[in-house]
Amino acid sequence: MLRRILLYLSSAIWARRIVTHWGVARRMARRFVAGETLAEAIAAAQTLNNRGLLVSLDYLGESVKNAQDTADVVAMYGRLLARIKATETQASVSLKLTHLGLDISEELCVTNLRRILTDAQARNILVTIDMESSAYTERTLRIYRTMHDEYDFKNVGTVLQAYLYRTAEDARTLATEGAHVRLCKGAYLEPPAVAFPQKADVDRNFVTIMTEFLHTPGTAYLCIASHDEGIIQQAEALLAQDSSLTSRSEFQMLYGVRSARQDTLAKAGYPVRVYMPFGEAWYPYFMRRLAERPANLWFMVKNLLRN
Ligand SMILES: Cc1cc2nc3c(=O)[nH]c(=O)nc-3n(C[C@H](O)[C@H](O)[C@H](O)COP(=O)(O)OP(=O)(O)OC[C@H]3O[C@@H](n4cnc5c(N)ncnc54)[C@H](O)[C@@H]3O)c2cc1C
Repeated sequence: MLRRILLYLSSAIWARRIVTHWGVARRMARRFVAGETLAEAIAAAQTLNNRGLLVSLDYLGESVKNAQDTADVVAMYGRLLARIKATETQASVSLKLTHLGLDISEELCVTNLRRILTDAQARNILVTIDMESSAYTERTLRIYRTMHDEYDFKNVGTVLQAYLYRTAEDARTLATEGAHVRLCKGAYLEPPAVAFPQKADVDRNFVTIMTEFLHTPGTAYLCIASHDEGIIQQAEALLAQDSSLTSRSEFQMLYGVRSARQDTLAKAGYPVRVYMPFGEAWYPYFMRRLAERPANLWFMVKNLLRN
């Protein structure tokens, strides 16, 4: 119930206006966000690199409704890619299609994405297209394939969410196609018509999809994006059975979540990548993080009352 309320609030403009003015919310968001500027993000990424962790940098923003704003987003990704290269930071990038104008037109979004992928390809940097709510799943996978198959970008990957019923089939197809896929549970408010309502079913589906994907012969690459200890241990068991899978997979976690576990996995020799958002548009991202762990919310409310 609380999760559903927080996810509803994550896209409510009136709630954003209120919460972004609370100092305690801004301070708490900093736990999950590397900073507001590009310089802060690169510095934070290098700190993680020095701990043996890889990074995926995400310029925060989504649901953009104005075409000029999407040009600014493309320009920021251009600067980000240039800084990653110039500073030799071990980082890929992640982005959201609604940040590039998917709500305005698919054509605008594709044009913007091609610019970023061209820039990234010249610098040998991978770009992962994040997955948003189920209203975008079909279009996101179509645009991913347009980039990968039609425009021949080999530096593009996409994301699948284990809470969706359709994902098992999507994963099978993408594994056969040799895709670079991040598998996560899914962070949006979805109706039971499209997604498993029970967490236990989502967790089971995650493990089934992960196992099948890793056992698909070929070159497909799986990013196991979860902080769930049960899932991590099942992944470790799978990787222990076949050492060749370590070069076709990596663990991924969010910045500010289970940092100690990130370190132990990296020390055990697994590639570990930390998803690191930066920028000023932190509100919806932060609310989704609160929804995942109500303890974070109580901590914020306690501080709010104290102040
Ligand atoms: C690298 C990465 C990229 C992602 N990209 C996407 C995407 O493109 N699209 C999408 O829909 N979702 C994305 N997600 C979010 C994902 O879908 C889940 O909502 C989120 O990861 C929580 O699920 P979990 O697998 O960690 O398991 P859960 O069962 O939610 O959590 C397991 C344990 O992890 C810890 N934990 C989890 N979340 C938090 C938190 N916010 N704060 C503190 N502790 C926490 C807690 O100890 C919890 O008990 C991404 C997640 C990761 C790690």
